[in-house]
Amino acid sequence: MRKPKLGQNFLVDDAARQRIVDALGDASARTVVEIGPGHGAITDILAGRAKRLVAIELDRSLAPELRFRFREQPQVEVVEADVLTVNLGRFAEADETVDVVGNLPYYITSDILLHLFAAAAEGKLGRAVLMMQREVGERVAAAPGVKDYGLLSATTQMYAEVEHLFTLPPSAFSPPPDVFSSVVRLHFRPRFAELGVDAKGFDRFLKQAFAQKRKTLKNNLQFAGYDAESMARGWPVGLEPQVRAEGASLEMMAELYRGLRS
Ligand code: SAM
Repeated sequence: MRKPKLGQNFLVDDAARQRIVDALGDASARTVVEIGPGHGAITDILAGRAKRLVAIELDRSLAPELRFRFREQPQVEVVEADVLTVNLGRFAEADETVDVVGNLPYYITSDILLHLFAAAAEGKLGRAVLMMQREVGERVAAAPGVKDYGLLSATTQMYAEVEHLFTLPPSAFSPPPDVFSSVVRLHFRPRFAELGVDAKGFDRFLKQAFAQKRKTLKNNLQFAGYDAESMARGWPVGLEPQVRAEGASLEMMAELYRGLRS
């Protein structure tokens, strides 16, 4: 089967597009950025609800189509661009935050999440309602110790509180994708200050901690260059010596990171 280009699986389930917009809450005083508006399934509803809507679409024929459709609605701005190159914070006026919505192009879901976290780190984002591949949705929402918890879960949860809202079958889209889809809501509340860690260093530490799934946390850190002596000194009392990174809470990870740096 031909793969749709640019992850273009358009939402054709009316109830679902309504639920996605409802999940954003009252947007009448908010700036909302939509990632990948496509033919406007979500844009159509949101245009009448948001104070300002910025729709970022990469497709060179869809973007002008949308611009034409919303030409008499000055609160809607269509930006033809790759969302990964757009500084999302620039749409925030003064000290307000912006919200994000999107039925994401699945081929770059993780990159988009990292891009959102960069804007969240600058305090520019409020909340996001995002459709993604079901497996990815389950991973970002998973708690430590459960099967789906991994680096993406830990990283996401350092930047946001995550709610898994609902799942849709392939038939909700045209053409139908090969996978089920999940809608998740993120409330951006970066935890770095609260946990006493710096964002850049701790992001890197998490990557090292989760580098090899089969290895224990200690082995992964040893492989990354931490020596046994400083690990013995900095290892938190409450953290099992043989734990894998997947089994450690973010609080414990932060305590370990602080211990290894002191
Ligand atoms: N929002 C529409 C819907 O729900 O029917 C379309 C969703 S479709 C899954 C993903 C959309 O993202 C497509 O319109 C595609 O052209 C667009 N897209 C793909 N890559 C993009 C990128 N890097 N930046 C912005 N938009 C992109």
